[in-house]
Amino acid sequence: MKKVLITGAAGFLGSHLCDRFIADGYSVIGMDNLITGSMDNIAHLMPLEEFTFYHHDVSQFVHVPDELDYILHFASPASPIDYLKMPIQTLKVGSLGTHNLLGLAKAKNARFMIASTSEVYGDPLVHPQTEDYWGNVNPIGPRGVYDEAKRFQEAMTMAYHTYHGIETRIVRIFNTYGPRMRVNDGRVLPAFFSQAIRGEGLTVFGDGQQTRSFCYVDDLVEGIVRLLKSDYHLPVNIGNPSEVTINEFAQEIIDLVGNSKAHLINKPLPVDDPKQRRPDITKAQTILGWSPKVSRAEGLKRTFGYFKEVV
Ligand code: UDP
Repeated sequence: MKKVLITGAAGFLGSHLCDRFIADGYSVIGMDNLITGSMDNIAHLMPLEEFTFYHHDVSQFVHVPDELDYILHFASPASPIDYLKMPIQTLKVGSLGTHNLLGLAKAKNARFMIASTSEVYGDPLVHPQTEDYWGNVNPIGPRGVYDEAKRFQEAMTMAYHTYHGIETRIVRIFNTYGPRMRVNDGRVLPAFFSQAIRGEGLTVFGDGQQTRSFCYVDDLVEGIVRLLKSDYHLPVNIGNPSEVTINEFAQEIIDLVGNSKAHLINKPLPVDDPKQRRPDITKAQTILGWSPKVSRAEGLKRTFGYFKEVV
């Protein structure tokens, strides 16, 4: 049985990855320090013999006695308010954590994947974003702790690939959504769903003309698995290119939830908030044969089912 270590296992993406690898017949070790993750996300996996959980902070030395085939480093605070609250931990998990896990990958001769991000492109001056764009990042702004940690993470991963010959994969993840997002993580979708369900004002930041492109979690997981199994070591964007303004997105959620009390209110735009974001997924399409299958209408419907239960 092949064995995979997934860090950030109790988080949104990490827990979906654990599910996928268990379903595909792997033995899974999940690791998380639970500063933003929740055991609720993996409670259903805990009784399984093929699943082991380590409560550990990967910024500290990582010891795993087992042989490992794959290591997927998905641990990090991942929403703007989380990394504002935890700037040092965010920097450490992307830098020290990545170094520790690359050392583990080298010791185990395991294939290593990092969860990079569209944030490496910063407030992008190239649109849509292709992998060869170097980005427009403010290193000392409030988002710099996340963006620069992720950029360092890519650099460190490439260095282990070229210097130590480690098999590495870099996925640049664009805005992703689905069940198990934390209600209060501050990101736009959990905020809008909980506000619409409660009949409150949906807090649109700025004029709401900024854009994002939202990918349903099942599509993302499929793209990640394909990239991991491919022989391609350079960064690949995984995301849904269907772009929407935040105003339009708020209206879609209001229409779906159908609470007549829900309405839009405006709040100040956070510092360095990217004005536009859309992945160019040509590489994923040609190299991995991957493209997203779940429309926003369908994905939002599935996600509403989850938020109805937890809000
Ligand atoms: N946003 C918003 N209202 C909220 C939360 C976020 O209008 O309550 C906006 C935010 O300014 C950004 C977009 O929605 O332009 C996506 O924000 P999110 O925090 O989800 O992720 P980002 O893509 O900025 O990392």
